Amino acid sequence: MTNTKDKEAKGGEEDESEPRWRIGDRVYALWAGNNCYYVSTIAEVSEADRTVVVTWDDADTSHRRVSFDQVMRPSDETTAWSRARIEKRATVRHTKQKGRCLFTNEACEPGQVVFVERPLLVALPAVAPKLWECLQKLHEEPGDIDVIRDKYVPEPDEEPNEDVIRILKALQDAELDGESNKICKLEAKSFQRLVSAWRYNSFGHHKEDGLVLYNRISMCAHSCDPTCCWSYGDEDAFVLRSRMALEKGGELTISYLQDEDLLKSTSVRQQKLQNWKFTCMCPRCSLKVDVGRGIRCQRCKVGVLYPQVPTGGFETCKVCGSSPSSEDTQMLLNMEEEYVARVDSLDKKDLDDVQTVYQAALDIFERHWILYVMDTILWEGQRQKNIMEAMEHQRRRIDFHQHYYFRPTFILAWCHEELGDCMVQQFPSRKWHLMQEFQRAYQMLAILCGTTHQYTASPYNKLWQVSSTNNSANANGANTETSESRKPVAQVSISM
Ligand SMILES: [Zn+2]
Ligand SMILES: [Zn+2]
Repeated sequence: MTNTKDKEAKGGEEDESEPRWRIGDRVYALWAGNNCYYVSTIAEVSEADRTVVVTWDDADTSHRRVSFDQVMRPSDETTAWSRARIEKRATVRHTKQKGRCLFTNEACEPGQVVFVERPLLVALPAVAPKLWECLQKLHEEPGDIDVIRDKYVPEPDEEPNEDVIRILKALQDAELDGESNKICKLEAKSFQRLVSAWRYNSFGHHKEDGLVLYNRISMCAHSCDPTCCWSYGDEDAFVLRSRMALEKGGELTISYLQDEDLLKSTSVRQQKLQNWKFTCMCPRCSLKVDVGRGIRCQRCKVGVLYPQVPTGGFETCKVCGSSPSSEDTQMLLNMEEEYVARVDSLDKKDLDDVQTVYQAALDIFERHWILYVMDTILWEGQRQKNIMEAMEHQRRRIDFHQHYYFRPTFILAWCHEELGDCMVQQFPSRKWHLMQEFQRAYQMLAILCGTTHQYTASPYNKLWQVSSTNNSANANGANTETSESRKPVAQVSISM
């Protein structure tokens, strides 16, 4: 963190965008064979023609001369950027419908880092000394406390609640020294505002049961189809990536819901978002038909009917052309409600019961999120005991995910990787199929958390293993087909 300050103090923005390369620097460099970045070490620097010669980690001998602008530091993906650099990349603008939101100042490729931000505050378990430590942290950077007080809260003038008064009292009773004393001077109402700001703007800590709060990121609006995804970098830094191709000026959104909740119906998502006290008006929530709530046509038993959100009726069956009467519609909706409640109360350990409910639900529903929920339980439960059965549930999970919400998510990526793992055990000879599963996982994870993240390395290594044991045909012959003979990687641009 002190480093960042130093750089800012020197007004070092130019330095950061044009780093000076030295022999021995560990870098990512663009390999001209397929325009992907690979890990390497700088072996020579030529200031005259602004190129470096790199030594690739995998000992490949081709395309070793790389121009300055095609080399980047690994830390650019994981170390917090300076405030100035973040501001250059993203702008906060007021919008009519949603208040302050965040927009990108540059077009982004899928998987590109938008920015990396340090936390304003990391609040770990609320044991008294720790709480105190956290409150102290508020003062580390001048102005941070005002930044937090400026965050979104549903009721800016909320009266202090009991908890807030108790915490404040506890703090006042504690023996405090100099700087730390400031927090106690806060009025109860002002402290309430702070506590609410934490509550509505922070993220769960990834390792411990605590909260993390960021400045720019907390301006990111929610969408059930967010344009961005995120992962943790060094020292709880928030790494924001674009999940899709974004135009300059495009809105940066993230999901406040977990991936698994993004696979639930619009009404369930809306209900969960009440935790943040707003009604989501994202593109998915605005759809007129909810295709995550399919019901099998009662007439032909072949077609799938989806409910129309504003009217509550069902669409016409695309197979037999009928549509259910209003009594049937009501009956189906009631049945759906009962099943949702039943699935909610399922005991994951009672697999027989889950199996019974699943079997019965299959007669009524198709492409319905409750089937997905049960497929997940059955996949996890049967994975060790009955791998073939488990694999079917995993395939169904992938099908539903792609049908209802086909974007890269950690769930979908891991579904593919796990299915690949099962295939290795069960059908090791189906190489094209194995490779396809690991490739999917790799490509999605490269977008979600970058090509160098440990999550991404996992399917990458499996892919490399499968493909290198593939056949010996590539092994002979001169090393002329460089673009084919290099490790397979996704075409993800991570240029800065
Ligand atoms: Zn939504
Ligand atoms: Zn029908």
